[in-house]
This record gives sequence, C-alpha cells and structure tokens, in this order.
Amino acid sequence: MTAIAIYPGTFDPVTRGHIDICERALKMFDRVVIGVADSPAKQPFFNLDERYDMLKTVFAENGRIAIKPFSGLLIDFARDSGAAVILRGLRAISDFEYEVQLAGMNRSLAPEIETVFLTAAQRYAFVSSSLVREIARLDGDVSDFLHPEVLKRLTAKLKASK
Ligand code: ADP
Repeated sequence: MTAIAIYPGTFDPVTRGHIDICERALKMFDRVVIGVADSPAKQPFFNLDERYDMLKTVFAENGRIAIKPFSGLLIDFARDSGAAVILRGLRAISDFEYEVQLAGMNRSLAPEIETVFLTAAQRYAFVSSSLVREIARLDGDVSDFLHPEVLKRLTAKLKASK
C-alpha cells in the first residue's frame, strides 16, 4: 500500500519552511501531494497559477511530490488524492489553536483521515509567507528563506506592483 499525505496550504509564496516540512514528510510517506488552495478569502498576493508554478519549479526534480490546485473541501481533496493523512506544519503556539480546530473539524467530517503535524528546522520556525512578503516589500533580505527562483519572482512582482 502506498502511503500518501496531502499537504494543503496557500503557499503565497512557497518558503523554505514549507520545503523543510515536505522533506521531513517524505521520510514518513511514499508520496506527498501538495494542495495549492485557491484561498480567495485570503486575497493572495500571487494568483493560483503563479503559486502553482513556483511550487512546480521548487519540486520539479522530486518524483515523489505532486502539486495540485484545489478549491473545494479539504477532505474531498484528500479522498480524491487517495490520501489517509493531512499534513500541516506548526510554528508557534499561535498556530496551534487554529490548526487544532481545523483538524477537529476535518476529523468530524472524515473520521478515516488523520491530521499529522510536523515542525520545521529551528531556523525556519518564524518564517511565514506573509512576513517574508512584507520584509521583501520593505527591501529587506529574504534570500535565506526562499528558493532562488521564488525570490526572483517575488522581487519582480513587488517591483511591478509599486
Ligand atoms: P494556510 O493558508 O493553509 O495557512 P500556508 O501556506 O500559510 O497556508 O501554510 C501551509 C501550512 O504550512 C500550514 O500548516 C502552516 O502552519 C505550515 N507552515 C508554513 N510555514 C511554516 C514553517 N516555517 N514551519 C512550519 N510550518 C509552516
């Protein structure tokens, strides 16, 4: 049996924190399906195609990682992907409340699917897409937190939006 986990998120844009979580997950699962959420309510800075393309670029060489956009219910996406596990990352205590709520709701909707939480390496413990975007907007150096191609696209889009 192939152990598949889905890793859903907005990835606006994908950071080294997300990458670290995926790499750890591959030690536990045969395949990881990254679900790029449409997330219109979050009004993402990058559109869905751009976020998808950046993930494709970052994980191009890993045959055990698939990237799929999704917009419906997370549990439907998990079922369609043949996944028994939803993977989420935890940073600070502030993530905990929302993540536990989400896991509890998904469990009541789909009891056969488990949520697994992983933490990233300490150096990424404070990295979030929104913070990275904000620092880059103010011309701060975020090169430690992004894949070079993602950094390039963020810099270009920020420049175009100024
Ligand atoms: P969402 O809109 O679903 O929160 P994100 O792209 O912000 O999407 O995050 C996707 C998942 O990755 C979430 O579970 C989030 O907690 C986790 N995550 C993001 N950055 C990090 C990080 N630096 N370390 C650990 N987990 C992270």
